Amino acid sequence: MPRSSSSRRKNKWQQAPRDLSDSVAGMRTSRSLPDGTWSVQTVKGNDSGKVYVCPGCGRDVSAASSHIVAWRQDAPHGIEIGVESRRHWHQRCFDRFR
Ligand SMILES: [Zn+2]
Repeated sequence: MPRSSSSRRKNKWQQAPRDLSDSVAGMRTSRSLPDGTWSVQTVKGNDSGKVYVCPGCGRDVSAASSHIVAWRQDAPHGIEIGVESRRHWHQRCFDRFR
Protein backbone atom coordinates (compact mmCIF):
# COMPACT_ATOMS: atom_id res chain seq x y z
CA MET A 1 0.00 0.00 0.00
CA PRO A 2 1.57 3.34 -1.04
CA ARG A 3 2.12 5.94 1.60
CA SER A 4 1.96 9.67 0.95
CA SER A 5 2.65 11.00 4.37
CA SER A 6 5.66 12.98 3.16
CA SER A 7 3.50 15.42 1.17
CA ARG A 8 0.70 15.93 3.66
CA ARG A 9 2.12 19.04 5.22
CA LYS A 10 0.54 22.22 3.96
CA ASN A 11 2.79 24.69 2.26
CA LYS A 12 1.93 28.20 3.37
CA TRP A 13 3.17 29.70 0.11
CA GLN A 14 0.76 27.57 -1.87
CA GLN A 15 -2.10 28.85 0.26
CA ALA A 16 -1.84 32.42 -0.99
CA PRO A 17 -5.28 33.64 -2.05
CA ARG A 18 -5.87 33.33 -5.77
CA ASP A 19 -9.34 34.81 -5.99
CA LEU A 20 -8.18 37.75 -8.08
CA SER A 21 -7.53 37.30 -11.75
CA ASP A 22 -3.90 37.06 -12.76
CA SER A 23 -3.92 40.46 -14.41
CA VAL A 24 -4.67 42.26 -11.16
CA ALA A 25 -3.02 39.87 -8.73
CA GLY A 26 -0.89 41.72 -6.28
CA MET A 27 -0.86 43.49 -3.00
CA ARG A 28 -3.34 46.33 -2.59
CA THR A 29 -2.82 49.05 -0.07
CA SER A 30 -4.41 52.36 0.78
CA ARG A 31 -2.41 55.52 0.80
CA SER A 32 -3.38 58.97 2.01
CA LEU A 33 -2.21 61.65 -0.38
CA PRO A 34 -2.84 65.40 -0.37
CA ASP A 35 -5.67 64.99 -2.89
CA GLY A 36 -7.42 62.10 -1.22
CA THR A 37 -7.15 58.47 -0.30
CA TRP A 38 -5.81 56.24 -3.03
CA SER A 39 -5.85 52.53 -3.58
CA VAL A 40 -2.46 51.36 -4.72
CA GLN A 41 -1.90 47.97 -6.23
CA THR A 42 1.15 46.25 -7.63
CA VAL A 43 0.40 44.48 -10.89
CA LYS A 44 2.55 41.67 -12.13
CA GLY A 45 3.66 41.64 -15.71
CA ASN A 46 1.26 39.93 -18.08
CA ASP A 47 0.98 39.22 -21.78
CA SER A 48 -2.08 41.36 -22.47
CA GLY A 49 0.02 43.52 -24.77
CA LYS A 50 -1.42 46.72 -23.34
CA VAL A 51 0.60 49.87 -23.00
CA TYR A 52 -0.31 52.68 -20.63
CA VAL A 53 1.09 56.14 -20.10
CA CYS A 54 2.76 56.80 -16.79
CA PRO A 55 1.40 60.00 -15.18
CA GLY A 56 4.74 60.53 -13.50
CA CYS A 57 7.13 60.62 -16.45
CA GLY A 58 4.76 60.56 -19.42
CA ARG A 59 6.41 57.49 -20.87
CA ASP A 60 4.91 54.15 -21.78
CA VAL A 61 4.15 51.57 -19.12
CA SER A 62 4.11 48.13 -20.63
CA ALA A 63 1.75 45.59 -19.13
CA ALA A 64 4.51 43.05 -19.70
CA SER A 65 6.43 44.38 -16.73
CA SER A 66 5.20 44.73 -13.19
CA HIS A 67 3.97 48.19 -12.31
CA ILE A 68 1.67 50.16 -10.02
CA VAL A 69 -2.02 50.79 -10.50
CA ALA A 70 -3.48 53.57 -8.38
CA TRP A 71 -6.90 55.15 -8.17
CA ARG A 72 -8.76 57.44 -5.84
CA GLN A 73 -11.09 55.83 -3.33
CA ASP A 74 -13.03 59.02 -2.75
CA ALA A 75 -13.62 60.23 -6.27
CA PRO A 76 -15.40 63.59 -6.29
CA HIS A 77 -18.17 62.63 -8.73
CA GLY A 78 -19.09 59.19 -7.53
CA ILE A 79 -17.66 55.84 -6.62
CA GLU A 80 -17.52 54.55 -10.18
CA ILE A 81 -14.98 57.15 -11.17
CA GLY A 82 -12.57 55.55 -8.76
CA VAL A 83 -12.13 52.57 -11.03
CA GLU A 84 -12.53 54.59 -14.22
CA SER A 85 -9.67 56.82 -13.17
CA ARG A 86 -7.16 54.10 -12.54
CA ARG A 87 -3.67 55.10 -13.51
CA HIS A 88 -0.75 52.87 -14.35
CA TRP A 89 2.59 54.00 -12.98
CA HIS A 90 6.15 52.81 -13.15
CA GLN A 91 7.01 51.60 -9.69
CA ARG A 92 9.86 54.08 -9.42
CA CYS A 93 7.73 56.98 -10.58
CA PHE A 94 5.00 56.28 -8.07
CA ASP A 95 7.53 56.20 -5.26
CA ARG A 96 8.88 59.50 -6.48
CA PHE A 97 5.61 61.35 -7.03
CA ARG A 98 3.30 59.77 -4.47
ZN1 LIG B 1 7.02 56.64 -15.18
